[in-house]
Amino acid sequence: MILLTPGPVQTRPEIRAAAARDIAPWDNDFRPVYARIRERILAIAGGVPGEHAVLPLQGAGHFLVEATVRSLVDAGGAIIVPVNGVYAQRIAKLTRAAGRVVHEWALPDTRGVTAEDVRAMFAAHPDATHLGMVVSETGSGIINDPEVAGPVVRGLGKRMFLDAVSAFGALPFSMAEHPECDALLFTSNKCFEGLPGMGFCVARLAALAPGRAGSWSFDLHDVWQHALTHGWGSIRFTPPVQAIAAFDAALDAFDAEGGQPARLARYSANMRILSEGARAMGFAPYLDQAQQGPIILTLHQPPGFDLQGFVDALKARGVLISNFYTTPTPTIRIGCIGAVTPDEMHHAVAMMRDVMATRAAA
Ligand SMILES: *Cc1c(COP(=O)(O)O)cnc(C)c1O
Repeated sequence: MILLTPGPVQTRPEIRAAAARDIAPWDNDFRPVYARIRERILAIAGGVPGEHAVLPLQGAGHFLVEATVRSLVDAGGAIIVPVNGVYAQRIAKLTRAAGRVVHEWALPDTRGVTAEDVRAMFAAHPDATHLGMVVSETGSGIINDPEVAGPVVRGLGKRMFLDAVSAFGALPFSMAEHPECDALLFTSNKCFEGLPGMGFCVARLAALAPGRAGSWSFDLHDVWQHALTHGWGSIRFTPPVQAIAAFDAALDAFDAEGGQPARLARYSANMRILSEGARAMGFAPYLDQAQQGPIILTLHQPPGFDLQGFVDALKARGVLISNFYTTPTPTIRIGCIGAVTPDEMHHAVAMMRDVMATRAAA
């Protein structure tokens, strides 16, 4: 099966094989693996040792987003969330549930945030301390570019955290070059092509404060303090040890491929093949070419389109795509990330063409 979903993504056999054993998290053979992962990520994220640290959290990406909001923003404090897709709405929802104020800034889900947008947001909401931005909006496929938003945030003396869960690993970002960024968030799956199960926050340590989170489970300051007390190879609570072991192997594969530039090149090639193939079949893309990121392609459903029937027919041909959409109007969402080669994407496009031809003939 070729998995073309924007998470969980397709993984390589050697990554899954790295998870095929029992592991004790406190074992002296495992602790160096966990500590090493943190160092490797810090380097990939352009973190400065002593100034930044990798603070992992078990569970889904949203657990990490909630932990970050709680750990960075005082209870009752305010943030701005530019809302141009469903993942931004989720930041707003979990922030509000955590007792922080959210100023949602509605934008069309067909374009990224501009510098003017960021200036207007903070002018309208001077009480906000942080911009909470989704980098790759997995809802539609647009990119909110931190290189555009970051300098404005910095100029205003404000702070920023980035939900880069479907972006980091493929799209470049350096913490050292973004002193306004307090946290960069991503997971073990998505663009790193590991198994799901761990979230990683690359945090600016000076932004953390004890007790602010109002939660022990979701306190990144406590994750940091635990490392200082028990070592960087130690983890609070029971971790998904197999996913962590697999992530170390996923980082080996990431390095062997050529790191972030190589991954971006492969995903971009996948996107080009898919997008040209889909247009040739008569599908209309949801986004203008200029707004299209390399992570997920969203297509308008033709009138009378049977999404589940299409997904089932494609699955019978060995290609699995999402059977739901998160845009305001009906769409088809197809991921270009994961351990998928351009050859496999050509094959997936051929299978889509076959399904459409079979249905047209029926
Ligand atoms: C996948 C994703 C998440 C995390 O999703 P979970 O299901 O909680 O792991 C968060 N933000 C974005 C933009 C994503 O694509």
